[in-house]
Amino acid sequence: MDYQKTQSENSLEKLISAVAFAARKHKNQKRKDEVEPYINHPLEVAEILVKIGGVKDENILIAAILHDTIEDTDTTEEEIRRLFGQKVCDYVKEVTDDKGLPKELRKKLQIEKASKLSVGAKQIKIADKTSNLCAIIESPPKNWTLETKIEYVNWAKQVVDEMRGVNESLEKYFDEIYEKAKEKLGYGCF
Ligand code: ZN
Repeated sequence: MDYQKTQSENSLEKLISAVAFAARKHKNQKRKDEVEPYINHPLEVAEILVKIGGVKDENILIAAILHDTIEDTDTTEEEIRRLFGQKVCDYVKEVTDDKGLPKELRKKLQIEKASKLSVGAKQIKIADKTSNLCAIIESPPKNWTLETKIEYVNWAKQVVDEMRGVNESLEKYFDEIYEKAKEKLGYGCF
């Protein structure tokens, strides 16, 4: 008799495959401090979702791991759809910026579009912004001035404020990290 994998075995396999896939795709990239391997960021986003946000949905967690692959590597939508399914692909697409647009416009669009995202995509984005604020506190982007950091922190807060009401613990955690970032950069600046 053929061995049939249980659903949780399949989920686990898909999750590990996503981790390995993202690690390969981001293999030559570093975070903005130019020291930490990039893959630490999507893994941190997934960790925040599961540990702080209590998120159990495998499609959301897998999408969190893959969330920057289309935007920052040669990964295509088709690849994500074929390997991880339509739902995961939809979430990743929702949190992917159009790199063809100028940076300032992309940032403006993130604020405008945030409230229209699905509940899953909103949670990924809140955890994403939290991870990036943690990085500004712990291992700041190389060559960023204080002004650039303050601008980023304020912008991240504006994006998150558009998505509130989806996951209280995640939102509370973001607020804590936001306060820490403010403290680190100096209250007077905000
Ligand atoms: Zn990210």
